[in-house]
Amino acid sequence: MPILKFENVSKTYPGNFIALEEINLVIESGEFLSIVGHSGSGKSTLLKLIYAEEQASEGHVYFNDRAIDSINRKHLPYYRRNIGTVFQDFKLLPQKTAFENVAYALEVSDETEEEINELVPEILEIVGMNDKAKKYPRQLSGGEQQKICLARALVRKPMVIIADEPTGNLDPVATWEIIQLLLKINSMGTTIILATHNKDIVDKLNRRVIALDKGKVIRDHQKGRYAI
Ligand code: ADP
Ligand code: MG
Repeated sequence: MPILKFENVSKTYPGNFIALEEINLVIESGEFLSIVGHSGSGKSTLLKLIYAEEQASEGHVYFNDRAIDSINRKHLPYYRRNIGTVFQDFKLLPQKTAFENVAYALEVSDETEEEINELVPEILEIVGMNDKAKKYPRQLSGGEQQKICLARALVRKPMVIIADEPTGNLDPVATWEIIQLLLKINSMGTTIILATHNKDIVDKLNRRVIALDKGKVIRDHQKGRYAI
């Protein structure tokens, strides 16, 4: 069953700017999908529609067969628990340790202290950051901070992770570490949707690639390469 489906989706921003045009897209549960395209081609907008941060102007986006735009505002936080997010700028809380940053994602969803103390180390282990649990973001490298962001996204056990240029601020070694982690998380069952400019990554991944150009899907290849 598709986990996400775009049906004739267009997105027009104020001023009549068309960011996405008639997108039809089916994403199966468990896929690792890369979205490529020049700056301004609509990659972030597509991810924002999934996270319900923006709404389609036409058409519908379905999550597990439910139209996202039909979800009551009050229920959006519950819906969003299905979707973990990772961005280019890490957005960690500077006054909290790595552990606390990850734990914070749980505290806002009323988990008990016991559950938090069990879950957080488990997730930090997955991203290989248990030994840095007590460090503050400023004491961590960019790659390490991004691993904490991944842990923070993972800790609520989302079905999908959307990663918007997650390696945009990282050197090649850290970039590849983050991609390896995304692959590992994918192999554990989480659907991954990665928007990236990085040709190297996409070519090495050899997974499904969608290319956007001026808001349209111009290519959708199962074992794609970057070339746009
Ligand atoms: P990408 O992530 O591929 O760089 P975006 O989805 O961010 O592309 O943007 C697609 C187009 O929509 C761009 O031309 C951008 O300027 C425009 N856009 C994005 N967000 C807004 C907004 N909130 N208001 C108006 N235009 C926007
Ligand atoms: Mg973008």
